[in-house]
Amino acid sequence: MIKINENYLKLQDSYLFSTIAKKVADFQAKNPDKKIIKLGIGDVTLPIAPKIIEAIHKATDEMAKKETFKGYGPEQGYDFLREKIVEWDYKKRGISIEKEEIFISDGAKCDTGNIQELFSTDNIIAITDPVYPVYLDSNVMAGRTGFFDKNTGKFEKVVYMPATAENNFEPELPKEKVDMLYLCFPNNPTGTVLNKEQLTKWVKYAKENGSIIFFDSAYEAYISEENVPHSIYEIEGAKEVAIEFRSFSKTAGFTGVRCAYAVVPKELKVGEVSLNALWNRRQCTKFNGVPYITQKAAEAVYTEEGQKQIKENIAYYMENARIIREGLEKSGYTVYGGKNAPYIWLKVPEGMTSWEFFDKLLEEKNIVGTPGSGFGPSGEGYFRLTAFGSRENTIEAINRIIK
Ligand code: PLP
Repeated sequence: MIKINENYLKLQDSYLFSTIAKKVADFQAKNPDKKIIKLGIGDVTLPIAPKIIEAIHKATDEMAKKETFKGYGPEQGYDFLREKIVEWDYKKRGISIEKEEIFISDGAKCDTGNIQELFSTDNIIAITDPVYPVYLDSNVMAGRTGFFDKNTGKFEKVVYMPATAENNFEPELPKEKVDMLYLCFPNNPTGTVLNKEQLTKWVKYAKENGSIIFFDSAYEAYISEENVPHSIYEIEGAKEVAIEFRSFSKTAGFTGVRCAYAVVPKELKVGEVSLNALWNRRQCTKFNGVPYITQKAAEAVYTEEGQKQIKENIAYYMENARIIREGLEKSGYTVYGGKNAPYIWLKVPEGMTSWEFFDKLLEEKNIVGTPGSGFGPSGEGYFRLTAFGSRENTIEAINRIIK
């Protein structure tokens, strides 16, 4: 008889956001007259910038004509987009990346989930705690994590690196040797960042231990402070030890359009094996490329007008972040993040769990956020609010909390 992949049964009961959605739906059904404000899920709300929409229309018209119609594109992405990425995201920051090192995809979620396939299931993974759930779950599915210990809320073979107020959200380097390190800065969920000196320590660790860093910089466009790297390749030697993931989702409002990319440097090798060649092989086998229309949309991000327009949207969200941060501080909350990321990470009142605070906020203030414990054991006692709501709702939510 057919057998299933039993690793799937080790995944935690239900996906965090489905649990939240169910609680919210139940509350709304019982209280139909209440206006619930959702500051929970990290999804953009502003429409796509006009310059990008113009490119989408133009590309759509090209598909309507025999002479300009496009079928399958290159699995790695069209050169016109890869070249723009090299120029605007890297060369302008003094980083040298070749277009063959860029792999266009339909999401950083898929890329960060798929990348582990290139590596043996014997490898030890290390994740920050709290963490964006995809890094852990994709390794659980692959059978790299061992059994789940209900008492600790941790997997047997995973190294958890707590990032809490106690260490100022700078996770400690693992004491043991780990092989695959997942880092995400600016961080989801905590909204915190590492500076250049701090990130340099991780590159050094990876070099000394023969490890690989998976660096998720999906939120780099939200960085406002100096000395915060936008790319791990700003650190010397990182091309020998790191794969970087970027996304147009939060940078340009593409959560529904779907476009991202991974950078797999040619210098990156395990023994004699080139990871660039391996990832290329994987993508060519399992992926048939991102739609031409989508890649044309992404290309428009790399124009003066496109940049100006996406920056206006980011500034709008970051003003929401400021309103949330300052409003909460005024109400006596201890708050982190929200300066270089659209996430505000707050300490829940003493003696409460993250879920208890979730229920209280929903029932008393009709506001939805995300319990920190849903992102890992060290998220317990914290709570995430996002800056992606409308200005009006953000102000109303904060006024309700201040009251
Ligand atoms: N990486 C992080 C840290 C995220 O928070 C998200 C989305 O919330 C993603 C990746 C997913 O990006 P994409 O929409 O490109 O799949």
